[in-house]
Amino acid sequence: MIRVGIPRALLYYQYYPAWKTFFEELGAEVVVSPPTSQAAVTSGSSRVVADTCLPVKVFLGHILSLVDKVDYIFVPAVRSVKSQVYNCAKFLGLPDMTSAVIPEAPPILDVDIDVNRGKRELYQSIYRLGRHFTWSPLKVRRAGLAAWQSHQNYRELMSSHGLTPPQAIERITGTSPVEPGVSLAEPDSVLGTIALVGHPYLLYDEHITHRLLNRLKQAHYRIVTPEMLAAAELDSGIARIAGKAYWTYEEEVVGAAGHYLQTSVDGIIGIMAFGCGPDSVMMDMVRREAIRKADTSFMSLTLEEHTAEAGLITRLEAFLDMILRKKRSGAAVCV
Ligand code: SF4
Repeated sequence: MIRVGIPRALLYYQYYPAWKTFFEELGAEVVVSPPTSQAAVTSGSSRVVADTCLPVKVFLGHILSLVDKVDYIFVPAVRSVKSQVYNCAKFLGLPDMTSAVIPEAPPILDVDIDVNRGKRELYQSIYRLGRHFTWSPLKVRRAGLAAWQSHQNYRELMSSHGLTPPQAIERITGTSPVEPGVSLAEPDSVLGTIALVGHPYLLYDEHITHRLLNRLKQAHYRIVTPEMLAAAELDSGIARIAGKAYWTYEEEVVGAAGHYLQTSVDGIIGIMAFGCGPDSVMMDMVRREAIRKADTSFMSLTLEEHTAEAGLITRLEAFLDMILRKKRSGAAVCV
């Protein structure tokens, strides 16, 4: 059986159920890299220049952990999934970058996803991907439709049941996608609600966030995230803050923040990567809106490979203390 490696990084939390379904429908075995470790961060960082963003370094570390374990590695180039809305340049060149900096990697299965080129081009890209497993266009079509259905079910599960991607993946696959010792359960008692906004490859990577989700739950806060919102709620959040989306996945930052700033959450934490151009612009818009509205506390955290756990815990504790104070006094804070 052909083994296809999927790195547990970048777009994994957006599309894993769909990718898994597609390859399994075509008779392949899917192998996912283990949760991020310091060894993966270090090995990935060693292959690129220092100012490359942390999520790409982590991604390369995951690729390295799959070398020798699989026949192919799946590295899609997701350019655009919405008309006239584009992804950051790192995603566009991901397959080329991967093969350039990790020449020992198994053959890369890449696929160009760009809805602006029309449906015909999209279907042909998917067929070219499926041809590694079968010559039958019918089988590839069936696998593509099953993958699309699986993606719809995954999104629906998260938005209707208020689940994070790791919780939804655990329900779908029956196995936990996070490292042992990290609990996906909700807290027993709740002091308040915190919205986390940012890309899933930052929010749900327990290693690079120093177990932020777990810490919030241990502090008795309920967590809400972008994936728990319906598409219409995210779109109106973007309209409120930015007018119109320019970047793919802008809804995970601006859309979610625009929505949660209108609701009764106690605070919003925006998470972004050091050196990320799109995130620095989007998070700045969110911060300005939070200051303008002045009724929801906001804090942004910038992550890189040298982010110290003690520093992150100190900022988190200070933010939660201020939220409790605000609950008593009624004044919001932005840090
Ligand atoms: S959007 Fe930012 S964090 Fe994500 S891959 Fe691009 S530069 Fe890196």
